[in-house]
Amino acid sequence: MGHDSDCIFCKIIEKTVPAKLVYEDEHAIAFEDINPQAPIHILIVPKKHIRDIHSIKHMDRELIGHLFFVAQTLGEKRGLNNSGYRMVINNGRNAGQTVFHIHLHLLSGRAFSWPPG
Ligand code: AMP
Ligand code: ZN
Repeated sequence: MGHDSDCIFCKIIEKTVPAKLVYEDEHAIAFEDINPQAPIHILIVPKKHIRDIHSIKHMDRELIGHLFFVAQTLGEKRGLNNSGYRMVINNGRNAGQTVFHIHLHLLSGRAFSWPPG
């Protein structure tokens, strides 16, 4: 299903690279960021390899929307809805994207400043 053999997140999805999984279903996976920037830092990743926002196809709309429902599920499970959380997509090099398999960062457990750095 659109896997890229050089992609670290595809390897985590295929379970050939370990990760601390916190959620998995047919279409998406979520795991703890290896270099957390907040007490809670989870990456929500579609199982389909989509490189970035510009690579999203019309047929992917439901899948991309599903990622937000995964965030909602995790937020409810961990009681984050009152304190709040930040979700980030770094898209492209200037935004700091380092893994070119689209993902949502879910950050929580501390206050975040605005504007972002
Ligand atoms: P981005 O810079 O938005 O592309 O985010 C990539 C994120 O993936 C960074 O926050 C990294 O710390 C994280 N990351 C990279 N490799 C791994 C890995 N093997 N397991 C968990 N997180 C990872
Ligand atoms: Zn991938």
